[in-house]
Amino acid sequence: MPVATQKADYYEVLGVAKEASPEEIKRAYRQAAMKHHPDRNKGDADAERKFKEAAEAYEVLSDPEKRGRYDRYGHAGLGGVAGHDFSHMRPDDIFSVFGDIFGDIFEMPFGGRRSDRGVDLQTEIVLSLADVAKETERSIEFTRSDFCDRCGGKGAEPGTKVDSCKTCGGYGQVERTSGMGFFSTRIVTVCPDCRGQGSRFSKACKDCKGSGRTPKRRVVSIKVPAGVQDGQVIRLRGEGEPADTGSTRGDLHCYIRVEQHPFLQRHGNDLLCDVPISFTQAALGTKLEVPTLDGREEVTIPAGTQHGEMFRLSGKGLPDMRSRKPGHQVVRVLIEIPQRLNSHQQELLRQFAKTEDRNVMPESRGFIDKLKDFWSHLG
Ligand SMILES: [Zn+2]
Ligand SMILES: [Zn+2]
Repeated sequence: MPVATQKADYYEVLGVAKEASPEEIKRAYRQAAMKHHPDRNKGDADAERKFKEAAEAYEVLSDPEKRGRYDRYGHAGLGGVAGHDFSHMRPDDIFSVFGDIFGDIFEMPFGGRRSDRGVDLQTEIVLSLADVAKETERSIEFTRSDFCDRCGGKGAEPGTKVDSCKTCGGYGQVERTSGMGFFSTRIVTVCPDCRGQGSRFSKACKDCKGSGRTPKRRVVSIKVPAGVQDGQVIRLRGEGEPADTGSTRGDLHCYIRVEQHPFLQRHGNDLLCDVPISFTQAALGTKLEVPTLDGREEVTIPAGTQHGEMFRLSGKGLPDMRSRKPGHQVVRVLIEIPQRLNSHQQELLRQFAKTEDRNVMPESRGFIDKLKDFWSHLG
């Protein structure tokens, strides 16, 4: 298993103060994303890491709920609401996650990929915790805008007259200058008049009304590896929509959502199960039957068990996605005190209280010694 690296402070990553306004955070993220974009720092792994770190920081700090959790509990507070796993995403796809804030930056000529790559699509795959325990295969059905069969994507009614586009001279692309301060630069974009076709038709295709595209259902099968985390993205290359120009289709991003289990809480590859027991069970010892991912397991609770004590069921957790080594299930006992006693029980407990010995109570023993010391200093 790779060594977990210490996560950097999100405010430090973006270089903003803790009180920064949403606008300041947005601005700081734009700057960081531009500065560290891998296309501007070819082969620089450090820049790529910073670029992804900034995306992660922005995803949390731009969301009031996630930011609140982060402010209160730090990285640990985000456990259950983790966002995208940027470490496995391509820079372009990271931009597409925040597409709304980038506006014209989207058209920046980072390798000029935008115009000749089709649109990415996204879908969600919902898994139960039991599904995560093993590799699962899912069939995904979705609709995408695809080439029209009738006109082959040209938009012209078959057999009608087609002229070369005057705007782009038949190239399908036009150049323009983007005025973004020192980033001002020439951009090649898809011709707005012929949408990259290079031609204008006299009569639009009946099926697609001239757009060259029709919605099509598609079914693909996807293998989800065991141990996958909530919020991870599995990318199916080339399953997105076709590009206006060029032949590269976009991708289909499958966001993994793992449903909560009624009894088991996930912590990485380990599972935590809280089980309430009575104080008599804790004092006398007992056997408990606890739910596991694949059924039930008996756990022996020894006499004298304390509140919050944990018992490990080795190998009963989830497999690690890379090493496949299984995690553990941890059973934590929560000792409950009855809120009501009948008179007979009260009498029994009063008798018991008379026999109580503080010296066999692990917390009380230390507490009483400390207290005696404290009183004596007060004089
Ligand atoms: Zn058509
Ligand atoms: Zn044109």
